[in-house]
Amino acid sequence: MTSTPLVVLENVNKHFGDLHVLRDIDLTVNSGEVVVVIGPSGSGKSTLCRTINRLETIDSGTITLDGQPLPAEGRGLAKLRSDVGMVFQSFNLFAHKTVLQNVTLGPTKVLRKSKADAEARGMELLDRVQIGDQAHKYPAQLSGGQQQRVAIARALAMNPKVLLFDEPTSALDPEMVQEVLDVMTDLASEGMTMVVVTHEMGFARRAANRVVFMADGQIVEENTPDEFFTNPGSDRAKDFLSKIL
Ligand code: ADP
Ligand code: MG
Repeated sequence: MTSTPLVVLENVNKHFGDLHVLRDIDLTVNSGEVVVVIGPSGSGKSTLCRTINRLETIDSGTITLDGQPLPAEGRGLAKLRSDVGMVFQSFNLFAHKTVLQNVTLGPTKVLRKSKADAEARGMELLDRVQIGDQAHKYPAQLSGGQQQRVAIARALAMNPKVLLFDEPTSALDPEMVQEVLDVMTDLASEGMTMVVVTHEMGFARRAANRVVFMADGQIVEENTPDEFFTNPGSDRAKDFLSKIL
């Protein structure tokens, strides 16, 4: 395991009006690392993810990707959005495009790949998430688990340096959760750098290199999954774990 810092947040603060949603956040995500972020609802987990691809701006502090500050606009920002892939709870697929078109749109429009190249790579990725046989269907014809696997393939098609997952299984029927976690576990074992907000503690135990526990906009503790789950250091974490485990 390398420890080259890929994403570094230093002293990051963010407000929504009077609400101080991110408080002095320091977080380093190393290349190849899987960081699982957990914490109560409203603690700032989604906002944290969204600052890393600049879906949200920050008020103070710095965020760097590969040592470079996040670009604010223009081509730099478009490049950032492909370098930092995001998978949302609600899939966010384009409803009027087929599965394959969902996966090839970014590579053709943003990466300027030829249609043929984008389709070849798209099919490879769809096969990888075991959905190649659905390539010509529309999202609404797929189950939630299948749609989320398409969303993962779509993010991978941009060759991201890091993938952010914001509660990727929370909107799924229980029987579909595992198929999505399996894809994520495979990506993790292949060395993909990932930041995963999730309540799936089994996944956190198995796949995370580090667990980050947030409450009230702060990182309250950060530890290996083993250490965190068997011996949480803070009362907030103990209380949270007692409610979900
Ligand atoms: P989490 O993902 O941990 O549930 P969020 O990052 O979504 O937390 O939200 C943190 C806090 O910021 C919550 O109190 C939420 O209501 C608030 N918040 C999130 N997005 C916005 C927004 N766009 N405008 C105002 N408040 C927001
Ligand atoms: Mg959230």
